[in-house]
Amino acid sequence: MVIGLVKEIKVHEYRVGLTPENVATYVAHGHTLIVEKGAGEGAGFEDDAYEAAGARIETDKHALFDASDMIVKVKEPLPGEYDYFKKGQILFTYLHLAADPAQAKALMEKGVSAVAYETITDRNGHLPCLTPMSEIAGRLAVQEGAKYLEKPFGGRGVLLGGVPGVKRGNVLIIGGGVVGMNACKMAVGLGANVTVMDIAAPRLGYYDDIFGSKVTTLYSNRSNLVDALKEADLVIGAVLLPGASAPKLVKTEDLKVMKKGAVIVDVAIDQGGCFESSKVTYHDAPTYTQEGIVHYCVGNMPGAVSLTSTMALTSTTLGYGLSIADKGLEAALKADAGLLNGLNCHQGNCTNEAVAKSLGLVF
Ligand code: NAD
Repeated sequence: MVIGLVKEIKVHEYRVGLTPENVATYVAHGHTLIVEKGAGEGAGFEDDAYEAAGARIETDKHALFDASDMIVKVKEPLPGEYDYFKKGQILFTYLHLAADPAQAKALMEKGVSAVAYETITDRNGHLPCLTPMSEIAGRLAVQEGAKYLEKPFGGRGVLLGGVPGVKRGNVLIIGGGVVGMNACKMAVGLGANVTVMDIAAPRLGYYDDIFGSKVTTLYSNRSNLVDALKEADLVIGAVLLPGASAPKLVKTEDLKVMKKGAVIVDVAIDQGGCFESSKVTYHDAPTYTQEGIVHYCVGNMPGAVSLTSTMALTSTTLGYGLSIADKGLEAALKADAGLLNGLNCHQGNCTNEAVAKSLGLVF
């Protein structure tokens, strides 16, 4: 199969869909790799490394798309990229089509067979290509939160770990899933006082088993939340209701009970955010201040740590991509029901039930 690796064009998106090592693996399986010039630069991979791995470097995007059976990316295609696709071409990338009807329409009209990383499932029903990004976003949430708590960045000037004789900072994590767990590990590691809230009692029990007295667990309800907000220096929003927008658990009026200069990191912003006051921000201007509270609401947090993110993402996606390339799309989908869940568009139709329903299409 001929596989084309495209350079991302989204603002401040530095990840890339294949590393040079991945390219060498595809080449060893007998495939032909075409890499757009500069595709890996943002993640620290030079064109020379892809060439050494057996790829051909291409400067002409049109030529790359024309020659490729499968296009590998990281982010969804943007409107400027729609016209490059050809009928029957396989697209393997994050798509998030449910929130992007224009993209869904374009891919269906073009007759692209689009396999979305985010809807591939493993045999436990988990989302193996989404988990690494949640792990990264959770860890990064504490790193970013700690930075914006510093006075020069607008925060209240609190060091999360404190020092001997001075109180530690308080970190409140709302939602104890993958993001929450990874944020918790980082916050505990920094020596902060950590509180985790969730509605799932078994999940809170798990935190109790793992962290013991190092973490306070609280059932997520309104009165616990407002009490915890009063004490918090850093609040991390990590709630997910699968297939739905995030619930606005923290109201704008709640900001008034918080300490001035406290920081909110709303990781759930990609699902609309769990703070009423959250507005999407980007890596070039990641924060704004409302009611004296610093808000960080970047929707593609992992893009900031592009090398780590690329390594984590591609180590999961490589096996699926290789399976498609080796067997051909239809045989690969027949062999793996979890990969079949990743198929979002095929032969002009939307083929994922949840995505189709979100788009208001008949399934
Ligand atoms: P997850 O499903 O692993 O965890 C979500 C948790 O929220 C669950 O434990 C659930 O019980 C809990 N929850 C549900 N309702 C709640 C409530 N009312 N109060 C408290 N907890 C509640 O999901 P995840 O992988 O941790 O992802 C969390 C969010 O982070 C998602 O919206 C995901 O898309 C987002 N995310 C954002 C970025 C980014 O760059 N901004 C990156 C990765 C993930």
